[in-house]
Amino acid sequence: MPHTEEQKSIHNCTVCGQPRHQLAYCCRTCKKLLDRSDARGRQPNRDARLNALRDAWDGEYFRCFYTGWRLCIDDHRSPFYLTWEHRTPRDEDDIVVAAAIINDMKSDLTEDEFRRLIIGLADYFRGRSETVLEINPLYYTR
Ligand SMILES: [Zn+2]
Repeated sequence: MPHTEEQKSIHNCTVCGQPRHQLAYCCRTCKKLLDRSDARGRQPNRDARLNALRDAWDGEYFRCFYTGWRLCIDDHRSPFYLTWEHRTPRDEDDIVVAAAIINDMKSDLTEDEFRRLIIGLADYFRGRSETVLEINPLYYTR
């Protein structure tokens, strides 16, 4: 029945489809993820994070942007914990979600630098190249 369908859609989370409070736009789980404070004190771009979360939802789980791994949302010590990943370091407008361990590996690299490094390492580890091409990390600030 159309009326029932309409009522149902009004009360579902706009990210994961779980039931939500009538006046809220998303469920408690998604709100908690979106409201996480940034460890470095940056002001998050809420729309960018909302889109990233929607993109990561596969209908059952949140998936890591780089690996497709199923992400953990309730154990911050897990290597698969859902983290906000800046495709360009510190750019809050271009965000994806990624497993904590992948975010740690990528660190201050841009997505392009990260991909080039990983592919370079893979070729080196497989014996397909004599060395790993150097990268010039533009955002490395340590
Ligand atoms: Zn939700």
